Amino acid sequence: MNCYLCESDAEQRETTQSGQVIACRDCGEYLISDVVLRQLESRPLDFSKMRDDLHRQRQYNATSMAQINSETAIWA
Ligand SMILES: [Zn+2]
Repeated sequence: MNCYLCESDAEQRETTQSGQVIACRDCGEYLISDVVLRQLESRPLDFSKMRDDLHRQRQYNATSMAQINSETAIWA
């Protein structure tokens, strides 16, 4: 599969109740929610801002996975 952010080759680690865990060589590991996945069909994420935010989330809270959900999604 391809990464939802940078569209390079990525791995889908698992599917959870709320979304998918994606591991991308460039963007790292992140959980993207089903709600955002549905919205992605009609509008794109702001790739660079979203990637910065994932980075911020990891620095802020190293123990939980970076998330792209309705609260954190940054749309283009
Ligand atoms: Zn990526």
